[in-house]
Amino acid sequence: MVLDAKIPAGPIAQKWDKHRFEMKLVNPANKRKFDVIVVGSGLAGASSAATLAELGYNVKCFCFQDSPRRAHSIAAQGGINAAKNYKNDGDSVYRLFYDTVKGGDFRSREANVYRLAQVSVNIIDQCVAQGVPFAREYSGYLDNRSFGGAQVSRTFYARGQTGQQLLLGAYQALCRQIGLGAVKMFPRTEMLDLVVIDGHAKGIVVRDLVSGEISSHAGDAVVLATGGYGNVFFLSTNAKGCNVTAAWRAYKKGAAFANPCYTQIHPTCIPVSGDHQSKLTLMSESLRNDGRVWVPKRKDDCQKPPGTIPEADRDYYLERKYPSFGNLAPRDISSRAAKEVCDEGRGVGPGGLGVFLDFSDAIRRLGEERIRERYGNLFDMYEKITGENAYQVPMRIYPAVHYTMGGLWVDYNLMSNLPGLFVVGEANFSDHGANRLGASALMQGLADGYFVLPYTIGHYFASSKQFKIPASHAGFKTSEETSRARTNRLLAIKGRRTVTSLHRELGKLLWEKCGMSRSEAGLKEALNRIPLLREEFWNNVNVTGKNGELNQDLEYAGRVADFMEFAELLCLDGLHRNESCGGHFREEFQTEDGEARRDDEHFAYVAAWEYQGQDKPPALHKEPLEYEEAHMTQRSYK
Ligand SMILES: Cc1cc2nc3c(=O)[nH]c(=O)nc-3n(C[C@H](O)[C@H](O)[C@H](O)COP(=O)(O)OP(=O)(O)OC[C@H]3O[C@@H](n4cnc5c(N)ncnc54)[C@H](O)[C@@H]3O)c2cc1C
Repeated sequence: MVLDAKIPAGPIAQKWDKHRFEMKLVNPANKRKFDVIVVGSGLAGASSAATLAELGYNVKCFCFQDSPRRAHSIAAQGGINAAKNYKNDGDSVYRLFYDTVKGGDFRSREANVYRLAQVSVNIIDQCVAQGVPFAREYSGYLDNRSFGGAQVSRTFYARGQTGQQLLLGAYQALCRQIGLGAVKMFPRTEMLDLVVIDGHAKGIVVRDLVSGEISSHAGDAVVLATGGYGNVFFLSTNAKGCNVTAAWRAYKKGAAFANPCYTQIHPTCIPVSGDHQSKLTLMSESLRNDGRVWVPKRKDDCQKPPGTIPEADRDYYLERKYPSFGNLAPRDISSRAAKEVCDEGRGVGPGGLGVFLDFSDAIRRLGEERIRERYGNLFDMYEKITGENAYQVPMRIYPAVHYTMGGLWVDYNLMSNLPGLFVVGEANFSDHGANRLGASALMQGLADGYFVLPYTIGHYFASSKQFKIPASHAGFKTSEETSRARTNRLLAIKGRRTVTSLHRELGKLLWEKCGMSRSEAGLKEALNRIPLLREEFWNNVNVTGKNGELNQDLEYAGRVADFMEFAELLCLDGLHRNESCGGHFREEFQTEDGEARRDDEHFAYVAAWEYQGQDKPPALHKEPLEYEEAHMTQRSYK
C-alpha cells in the first residue's frame, strides 16, 4: 500500500487556492453522468449530498435513522469555530490553524488544518444564508464564546443546540435536492459492505432495516460520512446508534484505518450512576466559559455539601495548574487532571468519581437570568437526569468517551487509498491529530461537505479513467451473499447472552485498559481478552426476532460484531505507539508533572493499518508528519 497524502506544494496559505486552480473541472453538462453514493446524513453527509447535487451530480444518500434529520450531529451542543475575528480579540486564520495543530498535539496533517481554518469563515456565511439562527449580540452581530485550547472567542453557537440548528440548515439544503430529484434518499438503510472492483470503490451493499432486504447500489464514487466509533467503549456521549460498521467493512476491503487509538475523553459529562446505565450525557464545554471546576483540598471534605466548604478549602485545580487557560484547558488535559484528583481520593459524589462545575461566581457576577439565557437547556437537561438544580448547587461532572480522532485514512483530497472512496466528517482521521479542540468537529464536517469534497471529487472524475459497473456485477452479488450469510448466522446462534451484555463487557475492558490512561501491560491484557470475548459473542449471543421485519436487536448485533473486531485494532495501535500524545496517554511516557510526553523522533507519523485477512496481523504503514509552519514543541497551557 502506498500512502500518498497529495499535499500541494507551495506556501501553506496558498496551497488550497493553488490546488483548486490546478484541479481539473467537470463540465456542468457532464456532471449528471456521474452517480455518487453518500453514506450518512449528519452534518458531513447532508452537506456533501446537498452540495454535490446542487452542482449537478446524481446522488443517492443513505442513513440508518428514519430521517436524515436524526443523525447524531443533532446532539452537538456548544458551537462551531470560525476565524472571523468578530470580537477583534486577536483571532486570525493563522491563529485558528496554530491552535488546532497545537491542540492536536502535533499529530495532525498541517496542510489540512490550514485549509480547515481558511474555509471556516465560509461555513458561517453559508449557514447564516441558510437561516441558521446563531446567537447574536444586542447590536445584531453574531455572538462568539470561548472553547478549550483557545484564548480568543471564536465559537459561534445557537444556545446549547448548535448541532441541531446546523443540521436543520443542511437538511433543508438536502431536502431541496430531494425535491428536485437530484438526491434519492434512503432512510432506515444500513450499509453492510463496500464493493471494490479492480481496486476502485464502485458501490455498496445495504440492508433495508424495515424489510430486511439486502440489495446493491452502484456508483462512480462512494462517500462515507458515517461518523465516529466512540460507542466501541459502550458508554459514551454518542447517540446509541453510532458505530464503526461502514468504516470497518471498508477497512476489510482495503481502505487503511488511521490512528484508531486516538479517542477523545471529554472532561465535562454527567458521571456514571451505575451498571444499569446505557448512555452518558455531555455537559457542553461552553459551560466552562462561566463554570469553575474544583474539588475539596482535603479528602475529608468530599462528602460535605459543597456550599459548606469555604473558598480557602477548595482546589480550583485547572486554574492552579494552567493559569493562562484555566478552566478552558483542552479536553485531554482537563480530563486527565480530573482523573488525577479523583485518583488522589478527592473526587466528589457517589464512588468519588466526580468534580464540581460551579456557577456560583458567574451567577453572582451576571445574575441567574443571564446564565439561564446562555445555558438554560443544558441546566434543564442536567436537572432532568440528576434531579439537582445547578443554579443552586454545583454540577458534578466526570470525563467520558466523546469523539474519535482516528478514522479511515484520507489524502488531502479526502480520498482514501482506494480510488473512488472518499471519507468525510468524523469518519476520517484528517484534521484533529491526537486531540480535537472543542467546536472543531462541526467545523470540519461542514468544511469537508460544503467546501472541500465538491472540488476534489470533480477532480477525481476528471483526472482519472472512469468505468461504469452495474449493480448486477458479480462483485455485488458476492458481497450480498456474504452479508446475507452473516445476518443469518447472527440470528441462528440463539445463545444465552444479550447483545448489550457482551457490548458492555467489551466497553468496560476497553475503558479500563485503553481509556483515559493506557499501559503496555493493560493493552496486552486487552489484546488477549478481546478474541475470547469475540468467540463468546459468536457462540453465545442471543439475537431476538427475525430477519424480514424491523429488528433493532439484529441491527445492534451486527454493529457490536464489528466493534468486537475493531477493538483489537484500537488496542494494537495504542500498544505500538510508545509515546503519549493528546488523548493517547501511556502511563510509561509522562513528564515529571504528569503531562503527556511525545516522542517526535520515533512517532511523528500517522499510523495507517492495512487489513491482511482474518487471523493475520494488520500491516502498519506510516505517513510521516512534517511541520513547516507550526514547529513541534512540548505543548503548554500554563
Ligand atoms: C453530545 C455531543 C455534543 C457535541 N457537541 C459538539 C459541538 O458543540 N461542537 C462540535 O464541533 N462538535 C461537537 N460534537 C461532535 C460532533 O457532533 C460530531 O463529531 C459530528 O456531528 C459528526 O458528524 P458526522 O456527519 O461526521 O457524523 P454523524 O452526525 O454521526 O452522522 C453519521 C451518519 O452516518 C449514518 N450511518 C452510520 N453508519 C451507517 C451505515 N452503516 N449505513 C448507513 N448509514 C450509516 C448515520 O445514519 C448518520 O446519518 C459533539 C458530539 C457529541 C456526542
